[in-house]
Amino acid sequence: MKRVGIIGLEHETNTFRSAPTTLAEFTITRGDDLLAERGRRTYAGGMFDGIDAIGAEAVPLVIAAAQPSGPIAADAYAAIKAELLTAVRSVPLDAVVVQLHGAGVAQGVDDVEADLGAALRAALGPDMPIVGSLDLHANLTPATVEHWTALSCVKFYPHTDMYERGREAAEWLARVWAGEQLQTRVRPLPWLLLPTATSVDGTAAAIECCDAAELEPGVLDATFVHGFPLADGPQVGASVLVTTVAGQADAEAVAQRLAAEVWPLRERCHVEMFEIAESVQVALDRMAADDDPRPVVIAETSDNPGGGGVGDGTHLLRALLDAGAPAVFAAIVDPVVAAAAHEHGVGAVLDVSLGGRLDPTSGGPIDAQARVLALGDGAYELRGVGWQIRLGPSALLRVATVDVVVTSGNQQVFDDGPFTMVGVDVRQRPLVALKSANHYREYYRRVSKAIVPALGPGLSHQSTTLPWERVRRPVWPLDPVVDVAVART
Ligand SMILES: [Zn+2]
Repeated sequence: MKRVGIIGLEHETNTFRSAPTTLAEFTITRGDDLLAERGRRTYAGGMFDGIDAIGAEAVPLVIAAAQPSGPIAADAYAAIKAELLTAVRSVPLDAVVVQLHGAGVAQGVDDVEADLGAALRAALGPDMPIVGSLDLHANLTPATVEHWTALSCVKFYPHTDMYERGREAAEWLARVWAGEQLQTRVRPLPWLLLPTATSVDGTAAAIECCDAAELEPGVLDATFVHGFPLADGPQVGASVLVTTVAGQADAEAVAQRLAAEVWPLRERCHVEMFEIAESVQVALDRMAADDDPRPVVIAETSDNPGGGGVGDGTHLLRALLDAGAPAVFAAIVDPVVAAAAHEHGVGAVLDVSLGGRLDPTSGGPIDAQARVLALGDGAYELRGVGWQIRLGPSALLRVATVDVVVTSGNQQVFDDGPFTMVGVDVRQRPLVALKSANHYREYYRRVSKAIVPALGPGLSHQSTTLPWERVRRPVWPLDPVVDVAVART
């Protein structure tokens, strides 16, 4: 039976966040502990099932992952890379499947996936199949994909197809073992695509172009990759990624053709955002507009822990308080306040100085009286995926008109988990405020009557005002690029 090692390094690096990401910030899961991924709708969950499906044996080795944050510290990257290389050399393997993100940056390494791919190839030799899965927010250049046998990439944002892409990458190994040669090629576009959704007109049309290409003989996968623009470097930007069977379809030609098809869609990929105070007023107006009891949702996209935000930004919370809005809010990261709530217990009234400190963009703390409504351990399971979230001591505090979830750890809001863990049913609340750029939509589009994305200060601020200095120019929309032929190479 063929043996397939499972490894991973997943980090989405926001280079505008100056503090490096240390080794201690990574969750490193080794050996049989990775078996917990079986049955989950995650990349690794898909990899296990894909390996089973092709009649091979999964050999779980090690996956290192951290929340999106600043550049990976040089010593942390060196340690993780060394552990991954040691792991794949420590046991006999016939192939390796790797869970990647695609937007990893370490101190001194702009493109972690390119560097890791080259290192794995050097360690395992030219003939070992090494396949991987990528996040839609991957910054890809030809160098990124050069050393991998093949790479698959998530197609949707929210990323509802992580399992399918992990499984697909693993199943491709059967083709390789059957003698097919796979080709993964990328066509970079001169395009900084600010975080959007795949439900908007332009990005949805791009998926249709790619889906049509996948119907052609020999085209295994075609993806319009959004890229991750909250980073500065020559690798940053959107792209088209194509995997084909060599001899049946030319991946390079398909990627180039799709890039030309997607490029004219660029004006149609924008999500409307509201300034913070305006977003509160829009939400209040929408609440009052009819008798529909479902909640209105405001998302503070600019302090999104899923994009490198520190999670203690107080801009939206302050605007809700200023407006006297009857909101429930998740979350403010403040381990000191969470600990005080646990110390004093439910019913206590505390003088708090809440949040606003972790970054110059955080907005300063909110000094207020807060009543402790509930306590929690910060643990919940992500709906439909199975990820176990662990945020440590948490509390629900009532500050004037707003019930605020305060956590010790940092995590973007995907579903109602951050609320249910402190006893709140968001469906019973008129106004739900949260920190997330887009992943929240998969759950909240089903339970809310309106969604109001808000853009204020923060490390995941999505605008063309970010201080990019090293991205390849020209790049749209910073420059009026008119010809896709100037695409980055
Ligand atoms: Zn992503």
